[in-house]
Amino acid sequence: MKHPNEKIMRELIKYTKSHSKGKNNSSGCFVVKGDKIISKGISRVGVYHDPTAHGEMNAIKKICRKQKNYHLKDCWIYSTQIPCPMCTSVIVWTEAKGIVWGWDGRKEWGKLNIHPKEILKTAKNEIKLYGPFLEDECLKARNI
Ligand SMILES: [Zn+2]
Repeated sequence: MKHPNEKIMRELIKYTKSHSKGKNNSSGCFVVKGDKIISKGISRVGVYHDPTAHGEMNAIKKICRKQKNYHLKDCWIYSTQIPCPMCTSVIVWTEAKGIVWGWDGRKEWGKLNIHPKEILKTAKNEIKLYGPFLEDECLKARNI
């Protein structure tokens, strides 16, 4: 499968919309291996009272626990929003192949305004980065 993949991102947007009802600023994440979506996550910071419960963290933790291995070497991470420094760092630890993100939320966070490329250039292995991708649709997926 070629990345960035429009079909995958459109499916992620649909997933994010359907799982973010009534919650502000929800973002969604898929972990993609080959042609398959192997994990899905949605941000749940407010629901879990957990500052680490971003969509990326939830999707990555879920698949790593399932496969009993923290590496995602053949995987791509799709996120409706640009990954924050915490999530980008976790993606570096997983040694994923690449990241595709939708819209840039850094100005809205009001903190940690660090572009993922700044973190990725310090990674041992190259991790590709594509974004913004289907930006307007990803922005609408927030359901604000
Ligand atoms: Zn994050």
